[in-house]
Amino acid sequence: MKIYTIDTYHQTIPRYIAVYLIFGSDGPVLVETGPGSVTPAVVEGIKAHGVQPGDIKHVLVTHIHLDHAGAAGWWAQQGAHIYVHEVGARHLVDPSRLMASATRIYGDKMDSLWGEMIPVPEGQLTAVADNQTIHAAGLEFVAMDTPGHAWHHHAYRLGNVAFTGDATGMVRPPTPLLEIPAPPPEFKADVWLQTIAKIRAANFERIYPTHFGPIDDVAPHLDRLTDLITTNANLIRSWMEAGLSREEIVANYRQHNWDRVVGAGTPEEDARYFYSISEPAMSVDGIMRYWNKRDGR
Ligand SMILES: [Zn+2]
Repeated sequence: MKIYTIDTYHQTIPRYIAVYLIFGSDGPVLVETGPGSVTPAVVEGIKAHGVQPGDIKHVLVTHIHLDHAGAAGWWAQQGAHIYVHEVGARHLVDPSRLMASATRIYGDKMDSLWGEMIPVPEGQLTAVADNQTIHAAGLEFVAMDTPGHAWHHHAYRLGNVAFTGDATGMVRPPTPLLEIPAPPPEFKADVWLQTIAKIRAANFERIYPTHFGPIDDVAPHLDRLTDLITTNANLIRSWMEAGLSREEIVANYRQHNWDRVVGAGTPEEDARYFYSISEPAMSVDGIMRYWNKRDGR
């Protein structure tokens, strides 16, 4: 079994969104598709490994967010079967609600950022349950329900490694950058921490987050991620309790994380690249919503 990381060069930015190409005894499998806007780069990436789009018969996506599953319908058109968390499945068959909610966030940048999202025909889609085994190209992936970033999120175990989507945060190797994508309405700090404990207990030798590339030091990474979720969520809570406006909290959060990642040794260019796409305001909204719901507001 061979696993390759395909860089999608989303918005020309290297090492931001990965697609994984895995060779089983019976052919290649993709984990994640990237958004529709990066399909040419993904096709080029797999061709470099001797694979044509029509050779891909199985595509697993960790969740339905556009940067992970946006091109699922395109791969279905090429003949692939798509596997997705059962809670998200209907949004791949009919992406209109998904696109409408993304349009509310991204407005006229929608097209250039994410491209087209083509519906997946129901007959080419498997809605996957927790612990379900997926037999694909001679490989056995086992779905692992991993909520916290999103309710409809699976990691896929493959032997002693796992493709973890957004459940293990975002990194930008070789820099020390670490971030948490905390979008509303599904970010739940406590649920995410339980997911991290579950991933820790599985003792993976290596994990493959979608943003970006494999991580070998799994336990220390999960320690840092646990700290970051706790610290950032509590920080926003303290600003809420101090009566700061949403705009002030966004400004504080942006500055805090910039200082944190650059202070840890991330080159400014990498941080600028990263935050040009990963919008701190989205996470502020997600984290504020989490506290408001928890506190019954
Ligand atoms: Zn996501």
